[in-house]
Formats: sequence, C-alpha cells, structure tokens
Amino acid sequence: MAEKVLIIGSGPAGLTAAIYAARADLDPLMIEGMQRGGQLMLTTEVENYPGFPDGIMGPELMDGMRKQAERFGTRIISSDATEVDLSERPFRISVGADVYETESLIISTGASARWLGIPGEDKLRGYGVSACATCDGFFFRDREIAIVGGGDSAMEEALFLTKFASKVTIVHRRDEFRASKIMAQRALDHPKIEVLWNTTVDEVLGDDLVTGIKVTSTETGEQSVLPVEGFFLAIGHDPNTKIFQGQLELDEAGYIVVQAGSTTTSVAGVFAAGDVVDRYYQQAVTAAGMGCQAAIDVEHWLNQIGS
Ligand code: NAP
Repeated sequence: MAEKVLIIGSGPAGLTAAIYAARADLDPLMIEGMQRGGQLMLTTEVENYPGFPDGIMGPELMDGMRKQAERFGTRIISSDATEVDLSERPFRISVGADVYETESLIISTGASARWLGIPGEDKLRGYGVSACATCDGFFFRDREIAIVGGGDSAMEEALFLTKFASKVTIVHRRDEFRASKIMAQRALDHPKIEVLWNTTVDEVLGDDLVTGIKVTSTETGEQSVLPVEGFFLAIGHDPNTKIFQGQLELDEAGYIVVQAGSTTTSVAGVFAAGDVVDRYYQQAVTAAGMGCQAAIDVEHWLNQIGS
C-alpha cells in the first residue's frame, strides 16, 4: 500500500515536517539521505535558534530533532533517494532498487556548497581545498589560509579558522561585504584576519597539496600569488534538485517554485520546504517553520482528496 506521506531530506525542514506529520497520525516515511541532518551537521555552535540561550552545537540540535521525529513514529531510511516519478499518483520514489509509493511528498533536500570551478580546485579538494571550515579547519594549525566569499558564511568560517590558522585572508570580489554588519565587523576587527578587496581567485596552486592561490585585482587587472596552505570556499549554495528536474517547476537557479504563502509546488500532492525552496533566508529556524507548513499543507491536501 502507498504511504500517506513520504519526506525526502532530513535537515530542519524535513525533520520538523516529520514531527508534525507523525503527530497528525500520517505515519511518515523519511528518506534521510546519506548525509543525514543536512548542513547543520557541518556547523559548530548555533547561537540563533530560539530556545537555546547558551547556543547549541549543530549536530546536537539535529540529533534532538531526529529523536523527536522518531518518538512520534517517523520511520527513517538512511539512504539517498535516487529517482522520482511524479507523473502520476501514487508517486514513485526510488532508493536504488527499492521503490516506495506515496500519496503525497515533501521535498526538503536542502542546498549544497558552491564551488568556483577554477583550475586546481577539484584536484586539490581534500588536499588543502575545502568548502567546510568546520570539517577541515583543524588540519590547518599554524598555517596561513585564504577563504573566498563576502557573506555571513565567509565571516563565520574565517572567524572559526582563526582558532587554528596563523593568518586568514578573506578574498572578496567587491569592496564591501554582503554579510550582516555585526559578523563583518567581528571579522574586520580580528587581528588574524586580513581582507583582499576587489579580488578574484583564478587558480589553486600546488601538485599534491595547496601551496597558494593565483588572484587578480578587479581594479588594476594585476595578477599575484598568495602563498597559502589552505583554501576555503564560502560563496553560497545551490539547491539539491537534480532528481526533480523536468518533473516540477524550478526557477532559473534550480530552486523549487512554491505558491506564495504555502509549500505547494507545481504538482498537486508535492510540497517543498527549507533551503531547497528558499534562496533568501536560509536559516534553520525558517526551514523548520516551512517544514511545519508543509506537514500542515499535506494534511489538508490528504483530507481534500479523501485519503
Ligand atoms: P551569500 O550571502 O549568498 O554570500 C555569498 C558570497 O559569496 C557573496 O559575498 C558573493 O559575492 C560571494 N560569491 C558568490 N559567488 C562567487 C563567485 N563565483 N566568486 C567569488 N565570490 C562569489 O551566502 P552565505 O554567506 O553562504 O549565506 C547564505 C545565507 O545564510 C545568508 O542569508 C546568510 O545571512 C545566512 N547565514 C547566516 C549566518 C549567521 O547568521 N550566523 C551564518 C552563515 C550564513 P557578492 O557579495 O559580490 O555577491
């Protein structure tokens, strides 16, 4: 028999949807993905999730949400959804050779870190190139490193990296940060952080390990080499929507389009929540809020179709 509701993705959006759907007696099945918990599993302290006045570690927050979802009966499959068929109901969701049928679907597959696509980046990934300061910062004790980006992530990660590195250079393509004032100021005030304004990164140098980055000034066109042993990227994210292409309406950047004020997608019975929809707020608490909305939208929709 088809599931009433299946949820793909297990970040704050997916797990909140699961908690609400389970408590509404919809017996949700969650495909949590190989990297369960989403991006908060890669962060350290979360200081802005309400209810935790002293902050909480990202993985701890996600473990708590997962336990809460399980407590109300959510069943969890710890693999990636590999294929979906949304052309008719019940929808068919494949996890490798296993196929699950469901009357409704909540997509909360989140977003992934963006890469520059410059020479050397791919080859040296894991050998000095990283898009996750919290995962890899530890390896750069007393080394000089560079980080590219000008948003809150770049500030947060640059500050985090100062715990290990002897010097952190933020390379930014413009002359002002996109980051919030408070985060930007914290980075600018830090004695270990320097900023290269109006500068792009063209190449990561090194044979087996990173030895430097080649940069260009956007003002003068002058090229130079910054000798660093680590190169971190914090230039935003792309939505994880590859398996939905051609089946749902996506915007030009690949985010799932939902009706204003709801989580309803272009396919009746398919709902979406969190970073896979939201390119603007991208916060744990907004994702959780949308997950709640998605579960309520599903409940109403199932009632409407009499399922
Ligand atoms: P973001 O705000 O989109 O910033 C991306 C940065 O990378 C921008 O400064 C952008 O430059 C730069 N960039 C993008 N593509 C580039 C390229 N090809 N080459 C060079 N630079 C490039 O992304 P984010 O920092 O990941 O933040 C995403 C969201 O999460 C934001 O809403 C942010 O506030 C939030 N966030 C909040 C916190 C917090 O509050 N603690 C922490 C992290 C993230 P331009 O500025 O020139 O476009």
